[in-house]
Amino acid sequence: MPFNRNVYERAVYKEPAPIRDHENPFEAMVKRFDVAAQILELDPGFYEYLTTPSRIHITAIPVTLDDGRMKVFEGIRVIHNEILGPSKGGIRYAPDVTVDEVKALAAWMTWKCAVIGVPFGGAKGGVICNPREMSPGELERLTRRYTANLLDVFGPDRDIPAPDMNTNDQIMAWILDTYSMHARRTANAVVTGKPLILGGSPGRREATGRGVMTVTLSAMERLGLRPSECTVAVQGFGNVGSIGAQLLAEQGCRIVAVSDVTGGYYNANGLDLQAMMDYAAQNNRLLEGYPNADPISNDELLTLDVDVLVPAAKEDQITQSNAPDIKAKIVAEGANGPTTPAADAILRENGSLVIPDILANAGGVTVSYFEWVQNRQGYYWSLDRVNRRLDRMMRAAFDNVYDAAAQYDVTLRIGAYVLAIDKVASALRIRGIYA
Ligand code: NAD
Repeated sequence: MPFNRNVYERAVYKEPAPIRDHENPFEAMVKRFDVAAQILELDPGFYEYLTTPSRIHITAIPVTLDDGRMKVFEGIRVIHNEILGPSKGGIRYAPDVTVDEVKALAAWMTWKCAVIGVPFGGAKGGVICNPREMSPGELERLTRRYTANLLDVFGPDRDIPAPDMNTNDQIMAWILDTYSMHARRTANAVVTGKPLILGGSPGRREATGRGVMTVTLSAMERLGLRPSECTVAVQGFGNVGSIGAQLLAEQGCRIVAVSDVTGGYYNANGLDLQAMMDYAAQNNRLLEGYPNADPISNDELLTLDVDVLVPAAKEDQITQSNAPDIKAKIVAEGANGPTTPAADAILRENGSLVIPDILANAGGVTVSYFEWVQNRQGYYWSLDRVNRRLDRMMRAAFDNVYDAAAQYDVTLRIGAYVLAIDKVASALRIRGIYA
């Protein structure tokens, strides 16, 4: 399979400075955890256990560059929790990855798996590198050495990586191969999100966007909104945003705005998403210069007068500065951590129903779970079977979260945290502490 370099180009293209209104991502996670812990009257020892990552691996990755020089990169793998099963979580390659960011993402994986009901714990990985400046050969050597350094961490029954920002199915194939060479057998269940020919699952690529669509429909139903009467704005036109937008359009919604790192694109009559996908495919996966829409800024997109807003780009996009102007009735968080804790309160006050990331984007890990199950069974499912099971799990999780939020009179986010923490704490109580 030819290596696709475009995925790296777009992620770092004209990146605007992030707006931050909290100390760091891990603290943003803990702020939500605190509210749920109070509701659950969580024992202080359990509180400490569940907010402390189980293990943090930091590893030096020496790589011989194409020009013969050696460069040492820093690799991170955080295992947040393994109480419900082997840990699961993606690996991101980016110049600005931090341990705190990876810690937060690993914890979110624990809560996400618990909310959706897959038997995994949470983990996340990162390598501090600028993939845009690296050749395919350098990326392969980096990936293989990162994997070799973490051989005792990864494993189909231990810790199972997947793609995240700037990593893709090719990188999963290199991890699979490196791990398998050492295991002396092909261990395809060691990663998910791998190419179909190596045991990937049908529907995995579309799974996160599909899950976003399913929970958005559930929220519309609760609010008495009909998809055919709803307008939608989507921030981010990558895997989650573009597929989520297309699937919502198939349900009858009018997608009036989408954006990527080059800016926003608006058409009150509804955008031609297929034309935009085709345009991006021809244009380094970017929408810059797309003709059949009015250019708007990313901030304008977030505050448009629409029924549904789908932030599907990155963290910290809805903050206390722009939250007062957000008009959407439903905010479906395709991205991880797009809303800051300060913005949560403002959105609630203004009556927006936020479907939190640990529920809204759980479709990806759900089909990753299906992929892992298929690898272990050695029996592969049809796309239809994958989609039906995914839809069922997403709908059930939405209903559970909605009911928990109603029971405690809290936001869906806190409702989701309450469910997840209660589940993991119950398992911990039964397992007990090994001394
Ligand atoms: P991607 O790299 O495919 O797409 C990201 C998109 O966001 C690109 O279109 C990029 O141009 C755009 N973007 C980047 N910065 C932006 C900005 N400042 N304003 C507007 N657009 C911007 O990534 P993805 O896989 O779609 O992931 C997006 C988010 O969803 C991330 O937070 C990721 O962690 C989360 N997520 C992804 C999956 C998955 O299965 N892919 C699963 C769960 C969560």
